Amino acid sequence: MFERSLQYLQGFFGYPSYRKNQEPVVKSILKGDDTLAIMPTGGGKSICYQIPALCFDGITIVISPLISLMKDQVDSIIELGISAAFINSTLSQDELSSIIYRLSKGKIKILYVAPERLDSRDFLDATENLNISQIAIDEAHCVSQWGHDFRPSYKGISRFISKLPKRPVITAFTATATSVVQNDIINLLSLKSPNIFVTGFDRDNLLINCLKISNKMDYIKDYINANKNLSGIIYASTRKEVNKIYEYLKDVGISCGRYHAGLLEGERKQMQEDFVYDKINLIVATNAFGMGIDKSNVRYVIHYNMPKNIEGYYQEIGRAGRDGENSECILLFSPQDVSINKYLIEVGCQNDFTKKFEYEKLQYMVDFVHHNGCLRKYILTYFGEEPDFDSCNNCSSCLNEGTLRDKTIDAQKVLSCIYRMKKEFGTTMVVDVLRGSSQKKVLSNRFDSLSTYGIMKDYSKNDLVNFINTLVSHGFLSLKEGEFPVLKLNSLSGKVLKGEEKVILKEFKVSNKISSDNGLFDRLKVLRLILAKKNKIPPYFIFSDTTLKSMSISCPKTPNEMLQISGVGENKLKKYGDNFIKEISLYLDNENLRA
Ligand code: ADP
Repeated sequence: MFERSLQYLQGFFGYPSYRKNQEPVVKSILKGDDTLAIMPTGGGKSICYQIPALCFDGITIVISPLISLMKDQVDSIIELGISAAFINSTLSQDELSSIIYRLSKGKIKILYVAPERLDSRDFLDATENLNISQIAIDEAHCVSQWGHDFRPSYKGISRFISKLPKRPVITAFTATATSVVQNDIINLLSLKSPNIFVTGFDRDNLLINCLKISNKMDYIKDYINANKNLSGIIYASTRKEVNKIYEYLKDVGISCGRYHAGLLEGERKQMQEDFVYDKINLIVATNAFGMGIDKSNVRYVIHYNMPKNIEGYYQEIGRAGRDGENSECILLFSPQDVSINKYLIEVGCQNDFTKKFEYEKLQYMVDFVHHNGCLRKYILTYFGEEPDFDSCNNCSSCLNEGTLRDKTIDAQKVLSCIYRMKKEFGTTMVVDVLRGSSQKKVLSNRFDSLSTYGIMKDYSKNDLVNFINTLVSHGFLSLKEGEFPVLKLNSLSGKVLKGEEKVILKEFKVSNKISSDNGLFDRLKVLRLILAKKNKIPPYFIFSDTTLKSMSISCPKTPNEMLQISGVGENKLKKYGDNFIKEISLYLDNENLRA
């Protein structure tokens, strides 16, 4: 049966082989063993249950919690030539009846359902006489209340299975790694001696970049301008921040969408759709955005604020590069992010227990930002892995980008000024004194008589604020929280002032373009967009960026050559092969590149 599965993999999906982590999972399912697979986002979970579904007699029911994603998932496999359907609350009675009819006639191979369906009498009646060969539970962590998105209706799954006349093979998939959740999945779904596969959590195509810079707005503007044609997401902590960034980008002529819980349902839906369909390349959003997004060609994720924990951060950056192409994740840290998150924990937690738990997680996040070693290793270790490397060569720590500069003297100027001002003040006041401002408040406190008055005139106001923020984020200075945060010297400040500790900081330049593709790749992308509009489907349904890139390199000129490209299966060849072959020929002729 495994051989046949490889034929399906090539025929339907156009992939010549399984990924290393997929093969044992598929083999286990084909043997008929209950299987639990823990794989990171983008690891290729869906193929692990879709291919066995095609190999088995009868149908596979996929239980999935994300109604918004279900239609996309089903549409994308129909596009491959697989007979599939979904049942959830968005269907009309007529649509539902038609699906139930097709089910009874054996016309559906894979049926996606929302877990709530399993309790409905109609659904039970419709499935009573079906030959169900596999039940696949996607996002299986939803069964556990320790998982980050617990769904009570997942608890009904094992009851549903126990009532079936013949027990199908049960398969469960998640990206959540903790052992508590793992055990809950096995127990609550009543898996029978399951084979468990845990794939490493590393996403080595993601460049993890953590920057402590002062002017975040300038940074994102330059970054987006350098990567204009690529899809990206900017995450911010609050709706207010999202609106601020959105307005700013619009003002500087960058078109983008926004997404947060404060917008009307219709507007949110539209923004999400525009992004998925490549009508806009960029979306600014709170963490409410992304759950229902399967878009494979997101090339960068920028965190404008530090997220509140590593789990959230890793999930959000996981939305970049699902197609395996190199993608960039940039976290822009400023010390105020810590205060924002503390505030969000204070107002968001119901009891002291969860509050303490959230504060602990926040601390891990803060430590990550200040971590000097490999950032990837830090994350993987946090998730319980034991990476066998010390340096990944694909994070800002390992790449050591930026130039190291000795900033001890400037730091001493700032620290001694704070020392001389005696009382505690906020950053603005310290900056005013250092730059020699004649503001009333500066003069009335007689700060103009201090020896540090005006000694940092060569810094612009913005740069000095940034420099002080950077000192805080590196721990050379503390920020006392409160309605008006104030600067405070600490023991490290003392050491710097006495010359016992040097302040060496990295100066970053704005990242360059993520990738420079050839002209053919851009043309194929345009063609994909035209075909997607015509067929009313998201562009990545047609071919992924990876597939277009392979085409632009090997320039297939015949249907047979086209089938050699990873990601081109029989059905896609029939539907789109000619269009792409023609475009490639035109390009070769125009550029005089024919062999
Ligand atoms: P997950 O559900 O684990 O987040 P997906 O199933 O969406 O991941 O797969 C991520 C991407 O990898 C998709 O674009 C998918 O087509 C691609 N993919 C999966 N398996 C393979 C394979 N064997 N070879 C090449 N690409 C693959």
